[in-house]
Amino acid sequence: MRALIVVDVQNDFCPGGALAVPDGDAVVEAVNRLAGEASFVVATRDWHPADHGSFVPEGGIWPVHCVRDTPGASLHPEIDSAQIDVIVDKGQVRDLEGYSGFEGTELERLLRSRGVEAVDVAGLALDYCVKATALDARRAGFDVTVHRGATRAVEVNAGDGERAVEELRAAGVSVVD
Ligand SMILES: [Zn+2]
Repeated sequence: MRALIVVDVQNDFCPGGALAVPDGDAVVEAVNRLAGEASFVVATRDWHPADHGSFVPEGGIWPVHCVRDTPGASLHPEIDSAQIDVIVDKGQVRDLEGYSGFEGTELERLLRSRGVEAVDVAGLALDYCVKATALDARRAGFDVTVHRGATRAVEVNAGDGERAVEELRAAGVSVVD
């Protein structure tokens, strides 16, 4: 059993959003295609309290983004929601980063309850939440494939996307186009 994890394809991570990933909305078409081929699809959402510790006003490094129940936290409107089986919200605890979909969530239990052994990972952003989610999936013992064409990197520092790919491969994650 394989599952697709669609990481954080939310308005705030797309062009015009509070923490836009360059070309972030370009993943939508590829994500919808992967979801159409998958038997079980989980979408994660960054779902922060308004005073999340990752925000600049709280001493963090990111602009205020994906505050729960705001338009910026909604999934991109062109994501085909009919193909998503479960939404998992993360980053809800003020003092936890919440990059990974597995951090402080029911995701691992959910996948195990469905008999999932392999996960495909796509979404935003490659060098943060996609990487963290894929690494945690690998640590949890899943067979993990990241779909490069269905992700984009933030690239706070040039080359972060490539470094993320190297780190993923070193951890035993397959990275495919
Ligand atoms: Zn966040």
